[in-house]
Amino acid sequence: MQLLLCLSKPAQHLKKNPLMAASGSGSIMWFRKGLRIHDNPALEYASKGSDFVYPVFVIDPHYMEPDPKAFSPGSKLAGLNRIRFLLESLVDLDTSLKKLGSRLLISKGEPGQVLIQCLKEWGVKKLCFEHDTDPYYQALDIKVKPIPADRRVESSMFLQEYTSAAGIEVFSPVSHTLFNPADIIQRNGGKPPLTYQSFLKLAGQPSWLSSPLLTSISSLPPVGDVGSCEISEVPTIKDLGYGDIEQEWTPFRGGESEALKRLKESVSDKNWVANFEKPKGNPSLFVKPATTVLSPYLKFGCLSSRYFYQCLQDVYKNVQKHTSPPVSLAGQLLWRDFFYTVAFGTPNFDRMKGNKLCKQIPWNDDDELLAAWREARTGYPWIDAIMVQLRTWGWMHHLARHSVACFLTRGDLFLHWERGRDVFERLLIDSDWAINNGNWLWLSCSSFFYQYNRIYSPISFGKKYDPNGNYIRHFLPVLKDMPKEYIYEPWTAPPGIQRKAKCIIGRDYPKPVVYHDSASKECKRKLAEAYALNQKLNGQLSQEDLDNLRRKLEQDEEDPEPKIRRQRQKVGHLT
Ligand SMILES: Cc1cc2nc3c(=O)[nH]c(=O)nc-3n(C[C@H](O)[C@H](O)[C@H](O)COP(=O)(O)OP(=O)(O)OC[C@H]3O[C@@H](n4cnc5c(N)ncnc54)[C@H](O)[C@@H]3O)c2cc1C
Repeated sequence: MQLLLCLSKPAQHLKKNPLMAASGSGSIMWFRKGLRIHDNPALEYASKGSDFVYPVFVIDPHYMEPDPKAFSPGSKLAGLNRIRFLLESLVDLDTSLKKLGSRLLISKGEPGQVLIQCLKEWGVKKLCFEHDTDPYYQALDIKVKPIPADRRVESSMFLQEYTSAAGIEVFSPVSHTLFNPADIIQRNGGKPPLTYQSFLKLAGQPSWLSSPLLTSISSLPPVGDVGSCEISEVPTIKDLGYGDIEQEWTPFRGGESEALKRLKESVSDKNWVANFEKPKGNPSLFVKPATTVLSPYLKFGCLSSRYFYQCLQDVYKNVQKHTSPPVSLAGQLLWRDFFYTVAFGTPNFDRMKGNKLCKQIPWNDDDELLAAWREARTGYPWIDAIMVQLRTWGWMHHLARHSVACFLTRGDLFLHWERGRDVFERLLIDSDWAINNGNWLWLSCSSFFYQYNRIYSPISFGKKYDPNGNYIRHFLPVLKDMPKEYIYEPWTAPPGIQRKAKCIIGRDYPKPVVYHDSASKECKRKLAEAYALNQKLNGQLSQEDLDNLRRKLEQDEEDPEPKIRRQRQKVGHLT
């Protein structure tokens, strides 16, 4: 893989400084997320008093290398849309750094090992990076995986151990969220607050809001000599080994410049910001979505959530009336912080077993139904169109996410929320560990929200917003000529209408995989029983308890009395 193009001579922005190691006046700015210049306290600190700053991004093969076995193009962990969004964000960051007299140094390998090598080679005395609460980064911050014996330099060397032994100052500020999750948990006696309202009460106004954030930098110290460290330009998708991929790419371009442009467009409409009410948004709007589409930029830190929040407060100060949390736009950022805090303070937050917050439910395991959902073959056009938008755009409106998550779990298919979470985690460009898991727990009625009788209809919910079915016609062109009377339930169209629309149900587009009416009743019955058992056993269900409950639920399904058959259809496969 031609990823690393070693620089044989110092590049334009690299200056040689043979005294660097001795003078110790250099620092490393390790970019992970936080791919921005504005409101970046780690970058600010790295530059302070430093003659040289090395801005480094390490490409972790684990995250970036192609995985041919995955169900969609991409690596083991990420779909190609998100990888491309990240690469665009890195190119944009490099361009901005160059304007400030610096540049981005791309290295490749296990990040901890690469960092140790750079620290040694460059003799710097400061290592700065944004604090991150995701398990991936938490693990990275603490340890460096042992490398194979034949390549062992510092076997089992921990980054922490190395930095303390070498007297390197590590500066790792919290700037990815509005609040420090650890502070909120501490204020709450060591436990995360479990409701949004209790979170708001504990959090109050962020302390940093009293003084304006640093949003522009006029210059940065130059990059020092990179020595023998392997440094490259930002790779392309092709450099990463993906070849010439043919796929529909997300319309959203990565990078801080794009993020700030989008933010500016959103907040310049003061009226829109002041009246924003999340539950009233129309999930079927796609030419101009009903929300900001800033989530992928927040995910990678191309946009600072603090700067976003500060801009919103500026708007609120200048209007007579505005909406409030939980429905306001600032309220959405607070939801983000809420999930970050609960996720950080909850062991096994990303799974059902061992997660104290999660109801133990005997979800079904059905690969065929899962594949039908994932591949937009459920036969419900509203659900399938959303799943196509996920696959092609990597972004959907919040209520569209509600619809498909509810359908997969407690609404219709009764499949495990972890399976749906995995699909979102791979395909979303804004895929975020805390928020994604938090929302799947919510939508499956496993935690936070428990009204399992309130189910989104895969037919009438979308129709309410988009009676003509324009959203469906766009993302499912096979149905583009279906009359609007049938577009949400095409299997009810008479054969003549199907022929005229050039879409025969069962041939060109699948029949529904389940009957919603009976399937949703079944799901409610199962959840009622699972909730009752959770209550009886105080949430302490063993695997045996779950297996017994599953058997009982299946038996009841087969009993003629009461008989509410799920009436599963043969899963449709289109050629
Ligand atoms: C099943 C499911 C999975 C989800 N997975 C993710 C995910 O992986 N990453 C992600 O960023 N969002 C996720 N969300 C939350 C939400 O749908 C998106 O944040 C939102 O749709 C992004 O669009 P936007 O930027 O236009 O949002 P806006 O409405 O403009 O909100 C601004 C910002 O607030 C934050 N936000 C908004 N809604 C939520 C919410 N419910 N919870 C937490 N933060 C929120 C996001 O950072 C968002 O960018 C998920 C929702 C569901 C139902």
